[in-house]
Amino acid sequence: MPKQKKQPRDHQKMQQQLASSKETCWERWSEATIKEAFTFAEGYKEFLNKAKTEREGVEEGIKVAEDNGFVDVEKKKEIKPGDKIYFSHRGKSLIFARVGEKGLEKGTKMVMSHIDSPHLDLKVSPLYEEENIAFLKTHYYGGIKKYQWPTIALSLHGKVYLKDGKEVDINIGEKEGDPVFMITDLLPHLDRAGGPGSTISSREVEGEHLNMVAGSIPVKLNKKEKMEERVKLAILEYLYDHYGMVEEDLSSAELQAVPSEKPRDLGFDRSMMSAYGHDDRICCYSSLQALLHSKEAERTQICIWVDREEIGSEGSTSAQSIFIERFLSLLNEKMTGQRSSISDIYKVFSQSTGISADVTGALDPDYKDVHEPRNAPRMHYGIAVEKYTGAKGKLATSEASGEFLRDLRNVFGKDKNILYQLGGGLGKIDQGGGGTIAKFMANRDIDIVDMGTPLFNMHAPLEIASKGDLYSAYLGYRRFLEE
Ligand code: MN
Ligand code: MN
Repeated sequence: MPKQKKQPRDHQKMQQQLASSKETCWERWSEATIKEAFTFAEGYKEFLNKAKTEREGVEEGIKVAEDNGFVDVEKKKEIKPGDKIYFSHRGKSLIFARVGEKGLEKGTKMVMSHIDSPHLDLKVSPLYEEENIAFLKTHYYGGIKKYQWPTIALSLHGKVYLKDGKEVDINIGEKEGDPVFMITDLLPHLDRAGGPGSTISSREVEGEHLNMVAGSIPVKLNKKEKMEERVKLAILEYLYDHYGMVEEDLSSAELQAVPSEKPRDLGFDRSMMSAYGHDDRICCYSSLQALLHSKEAERTQICIWVDREEIGSEGSTSAQSIFIERFLSLLNEKMTGQRSSISDIYKVFSQSTGISADVTGALDPDYKDVHEPRNAPRMHYGIAVEKYTGAKGKLATSEASGEFLRDLRNVFGKDKNILYQLGGGLGKIDQGGGGTIAKFMANRDIDIVDMGTPLFNMHAPLEIASKGDLYSAYLGYRRFLEE
């Protein structure tokens, strides 16, 4: 047998595991790129400050879209390549699209994120008085650690739908000089499980303890009137005078308590941001900016903001809702001048590729034991690409295909400024887990993968994100939409 000539082996290349994630954004980028990332973060913080609820996020999204030439799809008779449109659904979810040269049957590029964040909803009957103090009862929305919500300043946002048809907007606690609300907590002196000297709290914060202090001055009654709960009455008087509402109107309200703290830079070097609602408005913002600044592509580029992700994507405004199908058929009809059948829409999905743009937990040096360091995303190393999420034996997750991940590696490989980290699963196996909207889109037969910024203290009232990861996400989504 002829001797085969051995090729010299490049051992370094063979062992180049997840090459993309070997350095942080700060090490990889030029001074100019770092400056761009910092400037980008300024726009993001402004957006976050205006979008503290899903409704406010959608209102802000529409404003940005209209400023950039996007038109309400309902107002367009026919739609041509190059047109920019948006579709607002029940004021809580929003789709943006730039129409490509190719028909929808050739597939689309979708980046999908969720505009809702964990918060406290007021209960249907929230107002009560006890010990001469008025309180508002809340019901938490999404996965929170309840102990994190007492003793922080909360603002109240939302809408009240009065019986006479009027809509009232409420926003208290954001402006300088506004009052705020607060949930109380027990003083440490009276909260010792192991007796005096113990530092362990004796009780958990329970859901029914998440009641916000809301007032204490009782109404003055004239001599003939006899009424109980005069502090509660005084609050009702305030609500009537300022908003024209009565107690029963609270039952047809959508009022949320959220942290009143503004987004701020974090760290001496300002490389990070502390804010409420990074999950998932950081991906909403970066994906919309990616759409606004990307080059036109042959296929239609779509950016979707859905609601209700934090409670499992249930409901008419969630990723499971058929409003996404309704939008695509509307778009298809206006592009082709013909009615769309359901099989047309199935075809669109099967030919489309998507990114489920959502945040994930970054490896926290103080809690290393819950992470699996070989697969965990790290802060400042760029967007985390997660092949799958879920829990235990990959329960309740979709999984991105190998082919799709290969294509993504090739796309991102073209720009050295796009830092990305490949991994999968949130935390160690059987440690816990979590889900995203990816599986609901994958069930529609889209090739999709989870991809977003890693955070510290995800789901806490204030979360931490890296300006570098934010900018990396923007660059990555933009490249994906352009290819
Ligand atoms: Mn999320
Ligand atoms: Mn979340």
